[in-house]
Amino acid sequence: MSELDISERRIPQDGRFKVRINGKSIDFRVSIMPSAFGEDAVIRILDKESIATDLKGLTLETLGMDSREIKRFRKMIKEPYGMVLVTGPTGSGKTTTLYGALTEIHSGEEKIITIEDPVEYVLRGIVQIPVNEKKGLTFARGLRSILRHDPDKIMVGEIRDPETAQIAVQSALTGHLVFTTVHANNVFDVIGRFTHMGIDPYNFVACLNCVMAQRLVRKICPKCKYPVVIPDEKLIESAIDPERCRNVTFYEAKGCDDCNGTGYRGRSAIVELLDLNDEIRELIIAKASAIQLKKAAKEAGTVFLRESAVEKVLAGDTTLREINRVTFVE
Ligand SMILES: [Zn+2]
Repeated sequence: MSELDISERRIPQDGRFKVRINGKSIDFRVSIMPSAFGEDAVIRILDKESIATDLKGLTLETLGMDSREIKRFRKMIKEPYGMVLVTGPTGSGKTTTLYGALTEIHSGEEKIITIEDPVEYVLRGIVQIPVNEKKGLTFARGLRSILRHDPDKIMVGEIRDPETAQIAVQSALTGHLVFTTVHANNVFDVIGRFTHMGIDPYNFVACLNCVMAQRLVRKICPKCKYPVVIPDEKLIESAIDPERCRNVTFYEAKGCDDCNGTGYRGRSAIVELLDLNDEIRELIIAKASAIQLKKAAKEAGTVFLRESAVEKVLAGDTTLREINRVTFVE
């Protein structure tokens, strides 16, 4: 169905197919990899239409982000130009966040163009270009063409090569608002990633409005959750002050039909948002240590990933075990 060569079992293959289910067209992206004991297969299911309908209501709130962070992020995505950068591993919901941001700022008055690999959801009124490496349409080449179409806002699905990084930074410096993602572990690693790609740190911090690191935590199933007592030692081990938890109920879930026996249902975003103020810009250019940067970021109101995750546990949205799986104790 995905037009793979079924006689070839020794090399990885990628393909895709579409199925119409209940009048909706669903995309399946298939990836096959040879292993010592036969082939391994992963299928990504993209329900573009369902997300497109949801997108009318897809605001930053629906992602589960903390309201305090939404407020800060909202301010940054409304700047007239610069770069809004989201970072995190594959499957951390970076693209969804950018879609949420684009939906919020899309007034119909300004021209928005995206280049993506692949186009995951269709957004009304926005020109979306899929990357096609086989035909030579790379992120860099697509981005260059986009600029000739005089957009006000641009989304670049991912920056992974020096050329794309260079053009994206240039566009942000010359009056465009650029939304993009890059692979890094936290907001500070991003800076290193760009300097490695040969970007002048001065230009980079000059164009950057904010960096947001993101993870997804699974939400506890409301149907089968039950309260548990977590001993103080365990809290301390997880870097949570027991005093802070005196009036908090912790939960675990045993699994039920509603959650397929996993104990979790749905996911929610935790974020770490760094607002690039003048002090932080200067520190980055002066190649300040990570400790100094962290301190300045904290003073400027950044809540780090771990703290953001702990807040989710204290609010009863997820389990301690889940956040220990997703974030490190610092
Ligand atoms: Zn359940």
